Amino acid sequence: MPTDLRLPTDSIVKPDKDSFLHEENPFEAMMSRFDRAAQLLDLEPGLYKVLRHPEKQIIVSMPVMMDNGEVEVFTGYRVLYNTSRGPAKGGIRFDLQVSLDEVKALAAWMTWKCAVVNLPFGGAKGGVICDPLKMSAGELERLTRRYTMGIIHTLGPDSDVPAPDVNTNERVMAWLMDTYSMHHRHTVTAVVTGKPVEMGGSLGRREATGRGCMIVTKQALKHLGIKMQDTSVAVQGFGNVGSIAAQLMVREGCRIRAISDRTGGYYNKGGIDIEAALKYVAQHRSLDGFKGGDQITQEELLTSDVDVLLPAALENVITSKNAAKIQARVICEGANGPTTAGADSILDEKEIFVIPDILANAGGVTVSYFEWVQDRGGYFWSEDTVNERLNDIMCRSFADVLKLSMQHKVNMRTAAYMVSISRVATVHRLRGIYA
Ligand code: NAD
Repeated sequence: MPTDLRLPTDSIVKPDKDSFLHEENPFEAMMSRFDRAAQLLDLEPGLYKVLRHPEKQIIVSMPVMMDNGEVEVFTGYRVLYNTSRGPAKGGIRFDLQVSLDEVKALAAWMTWKCAVVNLPFGGAKGGVICDPLKMSAGELERLTRRYTMGIIHTLGPDSDVPAPDVNTNERVMAWLMDTYSMHHRHTVTAVVTGKPVEMGGSLGRREATGRGCMIVTKQALKHLGIKMQDTSVAVQGFGNVGSIAAQLMVREGCRIRAISDRTGGYYNKGGIDIEAALKYVAQHRSLDGFKGGDQITQEELLTSDVDVLLPAALENVITSKNAAKIQARVICEGANGPTTAGADSILDEKEIFVIPDILANAGGVTVSYFEWVQDRGGYFWSEDTVNERLNDIMCRSFADVLKLSMQHKVNMRTAAYMVSISRVATVHRLRGIYA
């Protein structure tokens, strides 16, 4: 590590003691990748310090009247990590596991993700500690509106634009947009993305992340000289990202050998009938009891005999413990943070081509950007136009990262961070430090 990058220990951001999980701590995982890219870029010490700190962290306490007449006080966060390139962009999650540390890591991730696909956005994330599965629609609406009020001073199409994330959806975005609009006394659709199409959402948004995964996988296979038609795939997670990526990959000629959801995994060497699996999930709400393959465990899925592995469920599933057993030649990280920092070097040794999360799953935020553009212009595009423009951005971004990875002889993850950090750093240099 060049000495000019070393910081006094008291200026290094440390995660809270209680949430320190080493290999699996999201802020640590993100920062270790950031540090490696920053060293290779020879980032000047001042900028290094700036980019290791979130710009703004908001903590709100929200009293909410529950259906039983009692008042509960919820805690919520909104972190704007960096807004040098444009309005902050990032989802809001409702979950009992939400912590400030996690929100900070995810906000930084959004900063790098928006920059790697060159969107004119910064990065943010929000979260509320709650158990939405135990709350009524009325309670969730009151909580959403109160949270919106708590952070209304940061929100705005030009300043901070949320989107759905874990346990939030189009409906929550509609409440947020309505609350914001009421206080601004006119309808402001561009304050959130991931809205229902009827009120300013974009066609193609629902499929965008899975479509983006398919596009970058196709690019990776092309680079490696493997035909999509000859490719076998395992997909962990059969929700929005995994099921759509699987469906689109089948249309490109791939054979999906294994799929799983939270109820278990299924393997069929000859190829799983993905349309049948989609129908099954639509009827039964999960894959539980699906007859289209032999039952396997999540570990067996991750290490199965396939060309492409698409983790599209959870973080920290590819670790230093199982990385050596992975047989796939390409890993497309549909989920955020599916690979721990400890697993990176093992995958490198095995020469597995990893398309990192900040690039692989950036299709969603790209079409969120299209939604924001359409809302601001008041002119809506056809689904074909959305898909065409998404394809252009994903292919160009893949090419940018691949080029840097070959130039510097680094893996795709480090190259993706280098592309992102250098784009954010360039803007900081041009804008200077306001004092
Ligand atoms: P989703 O809720 O629609 O689907 C998640 C799937 O994962 C479900 O099939 C669920 O059963 C499965 N799952 C849950 N626990 C599992 C377990 N222990 N083992 C195997 N499968 C399990 O969620 P999604 O929107 O598809 O998101 C999946 C991942 O992609 C998350 O990491 C998310 O942050 C990331 N992501 C999503 C988007 C998007 O636009 N939806 C964008 C970027 C990143």
